[in-house]
Amino acid sequence: MFDLLVVNAKIHGKKELMQIGCKDGKILEVAVNIPSKSKEIIDADGYFVTPPFIDSHLHLDTPLSMGMPRLNQSGTLLEGIKIWGELKPELTRKTIKARAKKLLLWSIAKGNLVIRSHVDTTDPSLMAVDALIELRREMKEFIDIQLVAFPQDGILRSKNSMELLTCALDKGVDVVGGIPHFERTMTDGQKSIRLLCELAEKRGLMVDMHCDESDDPFSRHIEHLTFETQRLGLHGRVAGSHLTSMHTMDNYYVSKLLPLMAEAKINCICNPLVNMNLQGRHDTYPKRRGLMRVPELIGAGINVSLGHDDVMDHWYPMGSHDMLEVVHMGAHALHMTGPGQQEALFDGITTNGAKTLNLENYGLEPGCNADMVILQASSKQECIRLRPARLFVIRKGKRISRMAKTNATVTLGFEDVNVDFCP
Ligand SMILES: [Zn+2]
Repeated sequence: MFDLLVVNAKIHGKKELMQIGCKDGKILEVAVNIPSKSKEIIDADGYFVTPPFIDSHLHLDTPLSMGMPRLNQSGTLLEGIKIWGELKPELTRKTIKARAKKLLLWSIAKGNLVIRSHVDTTDPSLMAVDALIELRREMKEFIDIQLVAFPQDGILRSKNSMELLTCALDKGVDVVGGIPHFERTMTDGQKSIRLLCELAEKRGLMVDMHCDESDDPFSRHIEHLTFETQRLGLHGRVAGSHLTSMHTMDNYYVSKLLPLMAEAKINCICNPLVNMNLQGRHDTYPKRRGLMRVPELIGAGINVSLGHDDVMDHWYPMGSHDMLEVVHMGAHALHMTGPGQQEALFDGITTNGAKTLNLENYGLEPGCNADMVILQASSKQECIRLRPARLFVIRKGKRISRMAKTNATVTLGFEDVNVDFCP
């Protein structure tokens, strides 16, 4: 007897509609016909079923704070950091938690059940750290949250930053973060990478740094992050977030860099929505795109996953935390609209995200967590094109969110015509 049986499920790579049997929070069986009984049955009606979306890069302490205390006029990363600094003294644990919780409800409704969130550790009270650790505990039945200790104001540039970051790790933050391009000099940036990677190695933790998030073609912190990963044996456990400088780097240099990154098994996290907004702001025309070289990274065998980064805050004024919007923007801005390329980007919010976050039991195979999303579409490509309704979101074998189908009726004179956006 199953707890839940999902029937008529369209699964990527399977010709026939499948059934998925779940018990005790796990997927037990995936087959064309499962004869066993189940307490609950969900009919996917031929629609697409995927493991839940993963946001590899988000800031849960900042969403929905746009305009507090003022709007970002220049649209740049640096003005965003300045406004966040102005807001920090006004923050309370209660308001941080309330905004983050509201965002998490959006996340769940959109089918994002795994989030890696950075949390600012340069505030001496570590209020945001406490708020998000508490929220993670309260929401753990519904969503998985991995927290990254993020020294927003720099590890060497800001006072007591290393002590505060270490304290955040002691409180239960999972991953070591960093922001080398914001340190005072390139040399300090390099030093911050060494110190933070050594800390991660000592504690057996993963690393995820905001790295080279600028338009400077000579910002080469990814080279040092790769070097330290190799030196300390952190292969597969280190992520470089943003890497926007890579867009503008010299081609010869990149041809040397990518094999080194592949060798160190660096994970790359691209944030198309936010970096298309923040980068290239100092350019006249042509204006550069603020994105790492994703097709080339994938071609070099490097794991690339995607993040939303910000939702309605000082760095990005839009969004509803829909990871399919991230993929949609990526497909355009990265020139990745070819069929195989769109699927690779979809994997960036599913399987590749699981790899970046070092997740276990993620997927739609027997033994995996019974977490999945049923979308009003029939394939990965159609999910990207339509960004359709998430009909059911299932967590540990239980339905935790429902959404109505989105269909239109066009009235032509006296005739009503049902509009279906699938050709
Ligand atoms: Zn970020």
